[in-house]
Amino acid sequence: MTAASSPPSGTVTTVPAKVAASSNAVEKIRRRESSRGRVIDLIRSNGPISRVELAERTGLTQATISTLVRALLTEDIVVESGRGVSTGGKPRMFLELNPAARLGVGVHLGQDYITYIIADLAGRVVARRRVDGPGDTSPLTVVSRMTRDIEALIEGSGVDRTGIVGMGIATPGPLDRTTGTVRNAPSLAAWNDFPIRRALASTTGLHCEFDNDATAAAIGEYWLGATEGYANYASVYMGSGIGSGIVMDGTIYQGVSSNVGEIGHVTVDARGLPCPCGNIGCLELYASPRVVVTRAAEAVDRGELTIPLTGVVSEDFAAVGVAAAAGDPVAVHLVRESAEYVASAVISMVNLLDLQLVVLAGSAFSTSGSFYVEIISEALSRRAMARAIHPVEVRLSVNGNDAAALGAATLVLQDRLSPRTLRSVSFA
Ligand SMILES: [Zn+2]
Repeated sequence: MTAASSPPSGTVTTVPAKVAASSNAVEKIRRRESSRGRVIDLIRSNGPISRVELAERTGLTQATISTLVRALLTEDIVVESGRGVSTGGKPRMFLELNPAARLGVGVHLGQDYITYIIADLAGRVVARRRVDGPGDTSPLTVVSRMTRDIEALIEGSGVDRTGIVGMGIATPGPLDRTTGTVRNAPSLAAWNDFPIRRALASTTGLHCEFDNDATAAAIGEYWLGATEGYANYASVYMGSGIGSGIVMDGTIYQGVSSNVGEIGHVTVDARGLPCPCGNIGCLELYASPRVVVTRAAEAVDRGELTIPLTGVVSEDFAAVGVAAAAGDPVAVHLVRESAEYVASAVISMVNLLDLQLVVLAGSAFSTSGSFYVEIISEALSRRAMARAIHPVEVRLSVNGNDAAALGAATLVLQDRLSPRTLRSVSFA
């Protein structure tokens, strides 16, 4: 504390007893929820695991672990699974997750597609459906359609409805989490200020969580254990736009308003084109699938490239990726150019945040992901400031196309199981 912010000497700062007692109570709840979350996370990622190991890994006392585990057994979230080798005393019972005990619905509302997922506690996809995106249809009509789709998914999956704890909704940003609305998102223009969270909660009767797709994808990676051992990483999410979710010191970083990691609107050319976001020379104007597809269409018109074009950006971008993978020089050039711009923005992010790992997630990486991994890795190893101190690993998401929808399902599972671990307490 600096001298300027210290209380003037001679004065005594007192906290009213009632306020102190209530903040102590809040702190106690916070700690209990945090410990519970860490125990669930460890059982999910390392189970079957014994109570002794849980105590060793978390640093909590045996008594605290016993209390937490007893509650999780009562709630059926965890089950005992056979005995370990006796070391002379009482044999150890192992604990593992009961994946089917709780289920989350995840919805990714993208420009080209809406993806629905039901995921269990192990992050496994129990049911999945992908339908066309909203297009120009009014949000109210789309919400009615989504409600029917979600009902059909639950019905068709045969899951026990009572196990569904809620629904996570992921959309491109920017968004306002307090009101549950999308705000001026270029790819969902018709949805500006529409109360999507409230509308879907009302029509489905499910508790709804809401976040941007890149943050959801970063949480999904963590939930599946794909980032284990890394406390500082980012997921770069490329769907219709380019975003990123950032985890710092094991905690998802949400900024002031959850509009964090807008790497697609980082300037890569200070004298570049004006962007609809208000900035100049943004990454998305040079590297997004839409830009690559526009250039590919021009090359097709000139007779330099032969690929089927459908007019759906994600499908056409995939076609460019397939042609690039087959060695077509024009397609390779288009993908490489996009990847080089993304690499420059990723280097800025890594230089600012000193990250260990960058995970590439989203549908755009499904066909051309290996180009991006190679080009971004190579650029980081040559140009990142801390390259002589530590490497930065670049890898593809384990969730592929479903990263945001699965992340959305894990948002609600995590929130209902251990509300504090995700957003405000370290989960490393
Ligand atoms: Zn922009």
